[in-house]
Amino acid sequence: MRIILLGTPGGGKGTQAKLICDHFAIPHISTGAIFREKVKEGTALSREISSYTGTGQLVPDPITISLVEERLTKDDCKNGFLLDGFPRDKKQAEALDRIMNKKNKQIDFVFLIDVPKEMIVDRILGRRVCPKCAESYHIKYNPPKAPGHCDVCGTALIHRADDQEQIILDRLAIYNQTTQPILEFYETKGILHKIKGDGGIQEIFSQLNEIIEKVQKKLNRK
Ligand code: AMP
Repeated sequence: MRIILLGTPGGGKGTQAKLICDHFAIPHISTGAIFREKVKEGTALSREISSYTGTGQLVPDPITISLVEERLTKDDCKNGFLLDGFPRDKKQAEALDRIMNKKNKQIDFVFLIDVPKEMIVDRILGRRVCPKCAESYHIKYNPPKAPGHCDVCGTALIHRADDQEQIILDRLAIYNQTTQPILEFYETKGILHKIKGDGGIQEIFSQLNEIIEKVQKKLNRK
């Protein structure tokens, strides 16, 4: 099953991605996470990437698209994957179509998690991540068991450099400008599903799951 998860940064996308990937046993491919890994390598490419990610700007398409293609070619993507953070604009959506066509595959589901702006700022300002294993927390809504430390590996949690209010507002503005054409692109293909993202974590996951089951039942009947 090949899924794209769309939604404003901080809209709970990462949490839902993890639930879906565990449930359907598919890899979670997040371009943000791919970039954060690359930045750690300390190469010229790392410095170029961090000049964009550190200021909330989009990394240029040639870099982004080739890293995504490289990732989707790995063995663990044979039975599907979930893309989180990609595509971010229509050009990237078209590039993804070309990558899929080369493999004779197609995207099955595109989910948009729709969350009000005030809620997003609140969620991002409270977000803390583990720099070692990338586990994500929220100081209010999903706190770690030991304050400030990762439940999985015990590492001290960090507040990401790009999770500051002005950077968040800039990211939201870029996001809104570029997302509308993607929604139209996938709506035309009939695979876009809009999900109300202001409910609880399990409530949102149930909405996603119901849609997947409904579509799969329909396909099995054909
Ligand atoms: P995220 O973890 O999705 O919030 O992404 C963190 C940062 O990575 C973004 O602010 C961008 O600088 C960069 N990024 C993530 N996905 C993409 C993408 N599809 N295209 C370009 N830049 C991206």
